[in-house]
Amino acid sequence: MVHALVTGGAGFIGSHLAGALLERGHEVTILDNLDPYYDVTIKERNLETLESISATTDGELTVIKGSILNEKALGTAMRGADIVYHHAAKAGVGPSVDNPQEYTDVNVQGTLKVLDMARRFPREIRVVNASSSSVYGPADYTPIDEEHPTRPLSPYALTKLTTEHYCRLYTELHNVPTVNLRYFTVYGPRMRTGMAIPDFTARAVDDDATFTCLGDGFQSRDFTYVDDVVQANLAILETDMADGETINIGSGGNVTVAELIEYVQESLFVDKEIEYLPAREGGSRHTHADYEKARRLLGYRPRTNIWKGVDEFVDWYLENIEWYHPLALKEAV
Ligand code: NAD
Repeated sequence: MVHALVTGGAGFIGSHLAGALLERGHEVTILDNLDPYYDVTIKERNLETLESISATTDGELTVIKGSILNEKALGTAMRGADIVYHHAAKAGVGPSVDNPQEYTDVNVQGTLKVLDMARRFPREIRVVNASSSSVYGPADYTPIDEEHPTRPLSPYALTKLTTEHYCRLYTELHNVPTVNLRYFTVYGPRMRTGMAIPDFTARAVDDDATFTCLGDGFQSRDFTYVDDVVQANLAILETDMADGETINIGSGGNVTVAELIEYVQESLFVDKEIEYLPAREGGSRHTHADYEKARRLLGYRPRTNIWKGVDEFVDWYLENIEWYHPLALKEAV
């Protein structure tokens, strides 16, 4: 059994990871300030889901509502932990373009506080840092391996790259074992709204909503199902081979946004006209992961391809339409 601190554990990926840890009987502490940058209802529901998992498993859950920037809350949350899965962040490329300071404060300063707190405990605490494929910027070649140059195109991407370097430094200077996982566009049930898949689903479900696409539709993404990301995080518990490493976590496939829209529309039996709007600033045109390193070090193999994953998401969406749909529709751009 391990004791894991999941920062950002009320959020999308963090809550899926926390649930999987609880199901395996581990002790989980969550530190999350329920940041209202997207609707907190989703995070409150995530916490309710975790409470019910912990009630029916051997896993033990402690939830601390507080910020990683608050040393007292962070120190309390980290006490007794063997590993920190650091997921708390301002996520999302678009808003970071207008709010670089806020992103830097939470993502860079916050990660530094997490690393420094881990260093201060006498017991060894591993830190797994949720980084992002956005650190690569424009792809010189695909699939992208970890040797690809990094040229962040947004403040968000730059904050993530900076956190990776801090992790490396804390390993080299202070022997804090760290692992950077570079996630490629993660999706799945309970995901935060304002992202492509919930956005397109909301537009398809709502009779009055029109269909818009940011960009020309030919931009492509390696969409990674959340369970595969969880699998990679769990695998870290089984080996120390990943310590000190930066590792891509993707699906290894890639689809264009136009293909995704077509699939979502077909799944929901609609055929709406698509209006193409200018692309968001700060995004890469194509992302496509080479996950060979994850396979080698973590035995990682993505199990859910995009179409199966979208089916899972749409099924979940329809089951939760009453509360999730209004939120997804509100955020649809
Ligand atoms: P999310 O927004 O759902 O989760 C982040 C959580 O962090 C939220 O619950 C939020 O309340 C919390 N948080 C924010 N500021 C905090 C603070 N100061 N103190 C404590 N908690 C704070 O986002 P997500 O999609 O689950 O992403 C999780 C992590 O994975 C983030 O670090 C993100 O950058 C990274 N990531 C996500 C994706 C993706 O596609 N979703 C891709 C690459 C990397």
